[in-house]
Amino acid sequence: MPVERTLSIVKPDGVARNIIGDVYRRFEQAGLRIIAARMLQLSQADAEAFYGVHRERPFYKDLVKFMTSGPVIVQVLEGEGAIAKNRDVMGATDPKKATLGTIRADLATSIDENVVHGSDAADTAAREIAFFFRETEICPRTR
Ligand code: GDP
Repeated sequence: MPVERTLSIVKPDGVARNIIGDVYRRFEQAGLRIIAARMLQLSQADAEAFYGVHRERPFYKDLVKFMTSGPVIVQVLEGEGAIAKNRDVMGATDPKKATLGTIRADLATSIDENVVHGSDAADTAAREIAFFFRETEICPRTR
């Protein structure tokens, strides 16, 4: 399995509910290394651009409103098969459908407030990492 990088976000509900550490522990226990991280407040324009692929979906306005409702933490995760592994750790989009033991099954309150974002494929991971981080801000482990 090749080493990959993926973009993860602890969404405003995760930050507000003080469960950042719980989320990070799950990444680390799954063998995902946090190689870049930053807390920030998304602007309306940032959130609209980041979720531009969903522009035509009925939930787009609510999604942008929620993602700008408070600070988020963005991080780059690295590891073998990191993109799919992170999706496994996150669980299904709808927490009601997520497997027990996943972040969304254990911690999320609804499909709208589902604690985490994770890139879904190699091309989106590359685009989403570049959306938030310069190459010099990414620090792969040397030991
Ligand atoms: P993800 O990759 O699992 O986060 O899901 P998507 O990229 O498809 O959607 C982005 C976010 O939009 C999700 O995390 C949800 O918060 C929200 N979302 C997706 N599908 C729906 C839906 O059918 N209804 C509602 N209310 N929100 C949705």
